[in-house]
Amino acid sequence: MRGTKSLHIARRLIQIGFLLFIFLMPVFDILRYDTATKELYLFGEVWSLGLKDGILLDQSMGGATHVAVQFFLKAILPWIILLSIFPVLGLLLGRFFCGWMCPEGALFELADFLTFKTLGRRDIFGKHPPTPDTTLLSSKWNMLFYGLLSAMFLLIVPPLTGIALTGYFIAPKTIWQQITTGDLTFGVKAGIIGVSTYMFVTSILVRHTFCKYVCAAGLMQMLFGWISPVSLGIKFDRENFSKCTDCKGCEKVCFMNVKPRLPKKDINCVNCGECITACKKELGDDCLFSYGFGDNVAQNTASDKKQILFEKPIVQ
Ligand code: SF4
Ligand code: SF4
Repeated sequence: MRGTKSLHIARRLIQIGFLLFIFLMPVFDILRYDTATKELYLFGEVWSLGLKDGILLDQSMGGATHVAVQFFLKAILPWIILLSIFPVLGLLLGRFFCGWMCPEGALFELADFLTFKTLGRRDIFGKHPPTPDTTLLSSKWNMLFYGLLSAMFLLIVPPLTGIALTGYFIAPKTIWQQITTGDLTFGVKAGIIGVSTYMFVTSILVRHTFCKYVCAAGLMQMLFGWISPVSLGIKFDRENFSKCTDCKGCEKVCFMNVKPRLPKKDINCVNCGECITACKKELGDDCLFSYGFGDNVAQNTASDKKQILFEKPIVQ
């Protein structure tokens, strides 16, 4: 079916782009703090208050105003903007950033995919998705192949993330020199080992549980998205509920373990739109999910919930 997966493909492209952006920001001095020179790089330039030479000796009203304006623009305003990014995103788009842009979430999804291909379920310790696709386990070679890919993921991704994030504090050129000569300073070793260990543990044990209960950016979007009457969300077309074949595709693809057919506002939904893609695959243009802003879609009734949870819907 044409266009069925376009949302999914668009999301993957944006995730890859943002992951590369986060990894490469320090390389191009877009954002990094150099602990050796104690300089903050912002968009290719060393950040400064932008005060004219000798301005602090100028006791006039004009001099004081200049210092105050520069201080507000260069020291206070950037912090206000930085701290308001996730609340504003949450108010308007719910947890859209988590589902479409978060580099860590993207890596967790990659770990999910490899686990699913190897074990037939997405969680190492859980049972999700609800009906494991046992056909995936039909070939031992298939399991072996994806098992090896999973091992490669664990060997490559955590150290690579460690190197990339250490670049936010130590000049990437210095890190590269040290890696190629094998002569690593304590700071570089600590950065790479610390981040690698964190990524290794979270990729195996925690994954989206971290997104649900720990991540500050996620929690801010969740809170502000929850209280906002206009934020973006996934809407379920209750009027046409009888068209649902109960294929459970929407539940199987949800890596946040949301039951998307239940009442519309689940704080764990990251607006990834995978349930839309799954339902389009099943119902085509009759897909029961869509994006929408605000709360103006009716909640599911108690009998709907019972039907979703325990009964097979009637197919028209
Ligand atoms: S309910 Fe749909 S949009 Fe929300 S997280 Fe699950 S799959 Fe993504
Ligand atoms: S809502 Fe769509 S994807 Fe979900 S069970 Fe029904 S038909 Fe399947």
